[in-house]
Amino acid sequence: MMKCQESRELFSLRLDDELELQIVRELEAHLLECHSCTREYEDLREACRRTEAYLAEFRLSRAEKQQIRENVLAKMKL
Ligand SMILES: [Zn+2]
Repeated sequence: MMKCQESRELFSLRLDDELELQIVRELEAHLLECHSCTREYEDLREACRRTEAYLAEFRLSRAEKQQIRENVLAKMKL
């Protein structure tokens, strides 16, 4: 069973679709049982979506957008 700490470390990778299927399943199993992680994950996903929408207004390269998003995510993981 995955711990909260482990699951939270995976959130940004999950949002970037960079996890193996097996890990995604473990993470999702944890989210089903853990309300605090679910809430945190949804906050992060929402922040991500808003960042994407904001960045879409600018003519940035994919790499630049990725960099900015990583900075945002890093700041949220206090
Ligand atoms: Zn949890």
